[in-house]
Amino acid sequence: MAQVNALPRQHRPDPLRALGVVALNGMFDEMDALGVLRHAVEEILPGDVAIVSSFGADSAVLLHMVSKVKKDLPVYFLETGKHFPETLDYVETLKTRLGLTNVIAIQPDPADLKRFDPNGDLWETDPDSCCHIRKTEPLEPITEEYGGWVTGRKRYQTVERGVLPHFELTSDDRIKVNPLAHFSDADVVAYRQEHNLPEHPLYQSGYKSIGCAPCTSVVAEGEDPRAGRWRGLNKKECGIHFDFNGAIAKPMVAVEKHRLFKDGAFIADPFHDWGEGDDAATAHYTHVPLPVFLEHRETFLANPHPLGLLVSPGERIEDVKDDLQRFASVAIKFPAFTDGRGYSTARLLSERYRFAGEIRAVGDVLADQIPLMRRCGVTALVVTHEPTRQALAEGKLAEVAIFYQPVGLTEVPVGTRPYLRRAG
Ligand code: SF4
Repeated sequence: MAQVNALPRQHRPDPLRALGVVALNGMFDEMDALGVLRHAVEEILPGDVAIVSSFGADSAVLLHMVSKVKKDLPVYFLETGKHFPETLDYVETLKTRLGLTNVIAIQPDPADLKRFDPNGDLWETDPDSCCHIRKTEPLEPITEEYGGWVTGRKRYQTVERGVLPHFELTSDDRIKVNPLAHFSDADVVAYRQEHNLPEHPLYQSGYKSIGCAPCTSVVAEGEDPRAGRWRGLNKKECGIHFDFNGAIAKPMVAVEKHRLFKDGAFIADPFHDWGEGDDAATAHYTHVPLPVFLEHRETFLANPHPLGLLVSPGERIEDVKDDLQRFASVAIKFPAFTDGRGYSTARLLSERYRFAGEIRAVGDVLADQIPLMRRCGVTALVVTHEPTRQALAEGKLAEVAIFYQPVGLTEVPVGTRPYLRRAG
């Protein structure tokens, strides 16, 4: 399968486009699924539409339609590394059988896997984080690349989807195309039979909704087909916009709730705050307050899960300097605009201790502070202040060009007087 190299593309909400989508639904209300798909691919979004497929139990119907309309339509497959071997076989079967020529496997970042899931068992302890590094993160840049996405969602699947239209406009101005909106369960079966489409090899064994192997189980007669996904856990969706079965969260809802700004975007945060009742032996993806870490140091060091450290003003990062490599992330608390102690902590981490993990600012993170934070080595920001979020999202933060105190190893004062020193 081809590998992906996506470039982000910005979309802006457009009221005229919204009106156009409403009109589209009126035009295509009575059109059959293949007609909707063809019109979307050829007329509405030529060259600007793609599909994510799980190659699961239900996928063959929509992929068959894709093969009728455009065999080289980009079909993205999230190769999490956790699929059943039968699913990987099924990818090849459907590619060959349907003649799909542009199936693209998206893989997780090996550095993320090494850092967050070195033993490959994260799904067991923290499935949200596992889905995040294996699905959400790899897919995010791809979703930016297209103006439209084809989904396999159907009205009958949930109450919320009862009025699912053929065309939807997302709040970030992308068009979702739902050719199968009006399909019933029986329609899917009938279509599969009519076109003699191969079944997923595990379907007859009772797997009715198929995702990663560790998180998929057989469903009993009469059970909801998705009951076999993440069984026993309070988890129903992957957290990605384009769930394997076509379930799509509203993109802007997902984006709005993210507070962590990193690498130029707001992203889901795998870390949690340390809470009452948390246990040093079993905690994972938690920012442990520095005094708590010192109190239970031996237990934390024996804990095999990814951990972070929280440093508040007045606490000394020097006290844990020998243990820093234990942490994937260090969160520095900035409680007020006038409190500069966090900057010193960040500089110690990045310059003296050469800490290679994430250095994040938490607390009162405001637009004016961010350029200074970055200069001191901060690589991630937790931001709740709405105007600051807006400025970050729009890339409108000013950089510091003149400074009186050089930081890091690269800034060299160009003048002898402090006010003449320049960054870069
Ligand atoms: S479905 Fe399970 S194994 Fe797959 S990414 Fe999510 S938690 Fe990990």
